[in-house]
Amino acid sequence: MLNMIVSGASGRMGSRIIILSSDSEEIKLTGALERKDHRYLGKDIGDVIGIGAVGISITDKVKNITEKADVLVDFSSPSATIECLKSLSGKPMPVVIGTTGFSKDEIEYIRLYAQNTPCVFAPNMSVGVNLLLKILSDIAKVTQDDYDIEIVEAHHRLKKDAPSGTAMKMAQVIASSLNRNLEETAVYARHGLIGERTKKEIGIQTIRAGDIVGEHTVIFGGLGERIEITHKASSRDTFARGALKAAQWVRKQTPGLYDMQDVLGLK
Ligand code: NAD
Repeated sequence: MLNMIVSGASGRMGSRIIILSSDSEEIKLTGALERKDHRYLGKDIGDVIGIGAVGISITDKVKNITEKADVLVDFSSPSATIECLKSLSGKPMPVVIGTTGFSKDEIEYIRLYAQNTPCVFAPNMSVGVNLLLKILSDIAKVTQDDYDIEIVEAHHRLKKDAPSGTAMKMAQVIASSLNRNLEETAVYARHGLIGERTKKEIGIQTIRAGDIVGEHTVIFGGLGERIEITHKASSRDTFARGALKAAQWVRKQTPGLYDMQDVLGLK
């Protein structure tokens, strides 16, 4: 049995993870973490997310709930994740981090934390997107600089970071296959008299509308042809199932930073 804490427990992702885990005989929820001023602090998480009482009260104090837990699954916000890891650093616990939008320094802190305990950190936990990351790298190695690369991502209106962590990961995978530095080659917006497209730029464009769960298209535009690869998520459950798979996988690993490709055996 895997005892699990979920941080961001009443959010869109946290609640799906808890709902899906309630059907599992291998995973047991032992803690539900939320932010300090959350209106449901002290309430039973099961009642809050509509599955009936599960005997776990929502808390903002991670230290009070670590004793019985094997793993913490985090889908909150970058500052909340770092704050939580800092609280755990005295007695590091395996973590699965699905949160996106971290700064360079915050990512460095996650790396540091993972030196002492296994940690899965992935901006997209779906099987489909992780397969796509593998394919993108293979395509880029063949098309090289002859094809222009553009990434377009679309998400719901409530998403806070842009471009999505998935679009950035796709761009990083392609850039590293092409030996390009993403910081120098990424172009996030175009407007006005911009001149001709430079050969090595990687365009990353963002759409925010309605309730789109998550869509990513990567274009490799050549002369006389173009390859377009699209992934569309139609339900958050694809990410939630991936997170639960990662939670079961991570506790059996040695300390280190892993991603979903490791969990799915795609490396
Ligand atoms: P959301 O806003 O619905 O949920 C976030 C939850 O975190 C909220 O309930 C919020 O109250 C809570 N929170 C804020 N501060 C906290 C703190 N200090 N401690 C504990 N909880 C705190 O957002 P969401 O759609 O569930 O997404 C959460 C994160 O997961 C985002 O960064 C999003 O981009 C990312 N995400 C990742 C994947 C993936 O596959 N890796 C998939 C979907 C979303």
